[in-house]
Amino acid sequence: MRKTLFVLFVLAGGVTSHAQDNLHVIKHLKITILSTMLAQRGWGEWGFSALIEADSTKILFDAGSHENTVLQNSKALNIDLSDVNTLILSHDHTDHTAGWLPLRNALAAVNKNALGVTHVAPGFFDTRINDDGRDDNDRKKDSLLYIATGGRIVLHKNFEEIAPGIYLTGIVPRVHPEKNYDTTGKMKDATGRVIADNVPEDMALVIRTTDGLVLVTGCGHSGIVNNLTHVNNNLKHEKIYTVIGGLHLLNTSDDKIQWTAQKLKENGIRYFMGAHCTGIEPVYQIRTWAGLKRGECIVGSVGATFQTGKGFTAGSLTR
Ligand SMILES: [Zn+2]
Ligand SMILES: [Zn+2]
Repeated sequence: MRKTLFVLFVLAGGVTSHAQDNLHVIKHLKITILSTMLAQRGWGEWGFSALIEADSTKILFDAGSHENTVLQNSKALNIDLSDVNTLILSHDHTDHTAGWLPLRNALAAVNKNALGVTHVAPGFFDTRINDDGRDDNDRKKDSLLYIATGGRIVLHKNFEEIAPGIYLTGIVPRVHPEKNYDTTGKMKDATGRVIADNVPEDMALVIRTTDGLVLVTGCGHSGIVNNLTHVNNNLKHEKIYTVIGGLHLLNTSDDKIQWTAQKLKENGIRYFMGAHCTGIEPVYQIRTWAGLKRGECIVGSVGATFQTGKGFTAGSLTR
């Protein structure tokens, strides 16, 4: 199985991020939340998905937790996803991947290229161990079904530019002691040995805008501060000013959230949307400890947007 998959995958050969000349800058960025817990319009669920519109580039980041949530919410928000050809799956968890095949099948019926390319990081297809001790190879099975639809999967081990001004972190080095994941999870390594599952494939998206870099995370299992450090090391002398997504801080102690907020502040973060597994109370703690104002630091909800030059727009529930 592994060999077959290896042949089918295309290893990415993106532009090196160290080339600091001729850097492309996105002028108009709009990010719309399509799956998270809270919803004023559409349906809420334990999951995450966001539509990225960066000038002429459209990307779906994660696919939600139920097979139809993203599709239903996009209809409720009058958003057409059939011209979105690129999907990023931040990591293997079902609450980010359950919509993968249903979305591909529904949208490809309108446009055969819709969600025709899926970007993941190594580890995404690794065998996980279920609570009952059985092997879970669901993402391997999904990937074969996806390839059978004509879809192409691109693996990103390293920090890479996937479209002008748009980057994937690839594998995020765990240099800080963040454990923003379920520490009881188990997986198998390449030799079949059972090891702790720290969600090694967890990766984030980075967009260079006229105002600075915007970082989008799915569950942030690799640690938001590890992500900030990794981006800073790869896009030197550039400022991350916005963080959006799930940060998995919901079980994190107050002192660790305070440390996280301090690091966000040191990085110059001006806009923060904590969606999905960030937890609600941690968002307000970060607002206080990172010195942000109401409107600059919000809980994510379905239909909430972030736009360059405008910041967040959200319903009255979360603004
Ligand atoms: Zn999640
Ligand atoms: Zn997760």
